[in-house]
Amino acid sequence: MASHTVTLIPGDGIGSETSAAMQRVVAASGVDITWEVAPAGAACLEEYGAVLPDSTVEAVRRNKVAIKGPITTPVGTGFRSVNVALRKALGLYVCLRPVWSIPGAGGRYADVDLVIVRENSEDLYAGIEFEEGSDDTRELIDFVEARGAGSIRPDSGISIKPISVTATRNIVEYAFEYALAHGRRKVTAVHKANIMKHSDGLFLREAREVAKRYEGRVAFDDRIVDAFCMNMVMDPAQFDVVVFPNLYGDIASDLAAGLVGGLGIAPGANIGRDYAVFEAVHGSAPDIAGKNLANPTAEILSAAMMLDHLREREAAALIRQAVSAVYAQGTCLTGDIRRATGSDVPAATCTAFTDALVAELERLRAERE
Ligand code: ATP
Repeated sequence: MASHTVTLIPGDGIGSETSAAMQRVVAASGVDITWEVAPAGAACLEEYGAVLPDSTVEAVRRNKVAIKGPITTPVGTGFRSVNVALRKALGLYVCLRPVWSIPGAGGRYADVDLVIVRENSEDLYAGIEFEEGSDDTRELIDFVEARGAGSIRPDSGISIKPISVTATRNIVEYAFEYALAHGRRKVTAVHKANIMKHSDGLFLREAREVAKRYEGRVAFDDRIVDAFCMNMVMDPAQFDVVVFPNLYGDIASDLAAGLVGGLGIAPGANIGRDYAVFEAVHGSAPDIAGKNLANPTAEILSAAMMLDHLREREAAALIRQAVSAVYAQGTCLTGDIRRATGSDVPAATCTAFTDALVAELERLRAERE
């Protein structure tokens, strides 16, 4: 059996609880992983003087694969988002979020099976911002008006939305290659090209160009983002692989998670050409941190994605099977899923839920031997 070394960034809030659960489940799946634990987030600010120590970025570079718990960006401290910094430092241009119905997990539909492919490097998340009232902002406003491009109220703050040909081609190509590699039939590009002609319009134009190269192999269509949201709520089963610029992809990820049972079960990954960082969609959930109430499923399913990436496909499939089995049984549910399903079984702790998963994995493995 191959052995792997993976960087583990437990993160803030519920991260230490969900990461410990994830490690137990991965061990029970039978793969041999050595975890190199690295700090990041508000929790390591005092000790390292940074929310993302260089040593942590180096650890990911060394091992090429990491799994990360949620990280809080301290509000008002001048620190930029750790998640954004990590994506930039490692060139993680793809944010991948598979979303599927797990029977018993409280979803509103039984037939959702889609993959969100979100561009990770630009759009309104580029971090190019001009503060209301600053000299730079006044200069920018003057520039825009002098060019006849429009008028901006003098008391405006401004965020720039760059959408490039390069990043669009990269992300749309990734979506099509993913579709081919995973036997998926259609890619849908989501945009607001009718209003933002030079950013979203470019995104749509380039997506159509890339789609031509896959004609006959993977179908292509597109949706305006507002229509997409309505379609998702009314009939999400029509979507397969869906590719987005950064902001719409962020919003759609939570929307899609909500349709199948909520943030507690939504896994994800940030992927680049050389490195991959797997992480749950949810945040640090400070309201339930340290209380053994967190649902670790999202991080556990992120670990299953990581195992696929490491070509440990059997272990990844076993974990998904065990998750499905525990939800189908419906007797061991964390509070979030209990609420989503309306179940009246007592809420399970994070530890009890993990125990049930580990027991199910052991049963499945014994059955196979
Ligand atoms: P952050 O600032 O880190 O994004 P947040 O609280 O704003 O944190 P989330 O952490 O995503 O955002 O949480 C939103 C809500 O969902 C919270 O009420 C939280 O308790 C709940 N939640 C999120 N993740 C989980 C989980 N894994 N298990 C149970 N509840 C969760």
